[in-house]
Amino acid sequence: MPIRCEIVSQDRMVWEGDADIVIIPGTEGEMGILPRHAPLLSTMKFGILKVRTQGREEVFAISGGIVEVQPDIVTVLADAAENVEEIDVARAEAARQRAEEFLKAGPPPDTDAYLAMEAALRRSNLRLEAARRYRRGVSRPTDYGEGGSTTGRG
Ligand code: ATP
Repeated sequence: MPIRCEIVSQDRMVWEGDADIVIIPGTEGEMGILPRHAPLLSTMKFGILKVRTQGREEVFAISGGIVEVQPDIVTVLADAAENVEEIDVARAEAARQRAEEFLKAGPPPDTDAYLAMEAALRRSNLRLEAARRYRRGVSRPTDYGEGGSTTGRG
């Protein structure tokens, strides 16, 4: 029996479906959630979330948030989340350059704007890295991990 998984971000439902296992980027470390897992509430760091079902794997870039686990459902509430297949690399690259340009000037009087740009830089860097490493059909370097498949990498 699979476990239900819902991935929601601030502005949309990103993905929902059944999973054999959901691998979460928990703040305290990666967590593999199987069906009938004990109830759990955790924060998530910026990282990669994987949903595996019947030999298929969906990979998501998660820009932090919280996850609630019940025995039959995993609910991911992310600040931002994208399936790696839908990441617009040009947009992420433009966002990264914009943020870097802004931050180069150092902390301005408006600290909120500075912190927002820092967060934008982290989001864009995560998207670029996630697209580079996990997108299907893109050739991946083989020298950074234990093999080149999208499965099996932690
Ligand atoms: P940008 O500066 O490029 O707009 P952002 O992080 O500020 O990036 P938001 O405006 O917060 O983007 O996000 C709006 C929506 O667009 C969200 O659903 C987010 O998941 C999505 N999104 C943001 N950047 C990308 C991207 N590079 N590729 C695909 N979806 C993206």
